[in-house]
Amino acid sequence: MTSSPVNPSASGRSRFAIPVSTLASGYALSIPVLTITGARPGPRVGVSAMIHGDELDGLLIARELWRTVDPADVSGSLWLMPVANPLAMEAVSRNTPIDMLDMNRLFPGTPDGWLSEQQAHAITSGFISEVDWLIDIHAGGTFPWVDYCYVLNDEAFSRAFLSALLYKPSSMYPATTAAAAMARDIPITVVEIGGGYHDQAEHVRNGVRGVLNMLRHAGVLPGAVERRPRQLLLHEIKVMRPRHGGVCVPARTLNPAEWIDGGEKLAEIVSPHTFETLETLTAPFERSVVVLTRNYATRIHPGDYAFMMGDGATAVWYD
Ligand SMILES: [Zn+2]
Repeated sequence: MTSSPVNPSASGRSRFAIPVSTLASGYALSIPVLTITGARPGPRVGVSAMIHGDELDGLLIARELWRTVDPADVSGSLWLMPVANPLAMEAVSRNTPIDMLDMNRLFPGTPDGWLSEQQAHAITSGFISEVDWLIDIHAGGTFPWVDYCYVLNDEAFSRAFLSALLYKPSSMYPATTAAAAMARDIPITVVEIGGGYHDQAEHVRNGVRGVLNMLRHAGVLPGAVERRPRQLLLHEIKVMRPRHGGVCVPARTLNPAEWIDGGEKLAEIVSPHTFETLETLTAPFERSVVVLTRNYATRIHPGDYAFMMGDGATAVWYD
């Protein structure tokens, strides 16, 4: 199944759905896209959210963009994909429930693979290949929260999101939306914002502000591109995955972009049976920068994303 059903010359607000498959129940699985098209020509910017079904913040950001971006201000178009993985969203699950696969390791997908691969293929052909710029919004998930964005193939585009923290990995996870976009020479920024038990309004406000600024950078919206001085570019991040599950009890409240000394206690993993400390997580670098954190005691699985810490020694300040 393919799709390219929008009439690009029609200005205003419109919607379409990218077909994926027929579910066992007989219901059609498709992925909704909302479009805001201006009367003037210009590029098409795509915003995708909820590739992972436990990351609601991107949907909330897309909702605000849908409510507030006026087609009269737009040159080109804005395509919003608020629920890229509908079944995972229903289940509040990172992975697609039917095959339990992480769709963001399966791009560009294939039409005759697992459901997650079929879905990735539909998104690649019906969305990623159809846009000139791509913003893929992620979050920390149900319990942790994050606030940073990746620098991949367009540094200025990523900086325009206005995060305090940026991350340029030496190697990206394979087969992500970013890999699919980069293979097609589409400027891509992966945003990580929100999640956990935290005030969503702040994340939505910052997310909308960032995406609007990126739309100015791409030329879809008029006006000067805002710049944020003193953004910190990380080159190395350690994902801290506990060996033991249990209850993760943070030592204190930490915020992304905060600097802490190596060895500082981040959290204890506590046995729910005996209340013994099974494991203590500490800041890994001599100067560590908080990237992903947990502000409340929560259930944790062995191997979960407990914390993410940047290496202060290899970080670089932009002026
Ligand atoms: Zn994600």
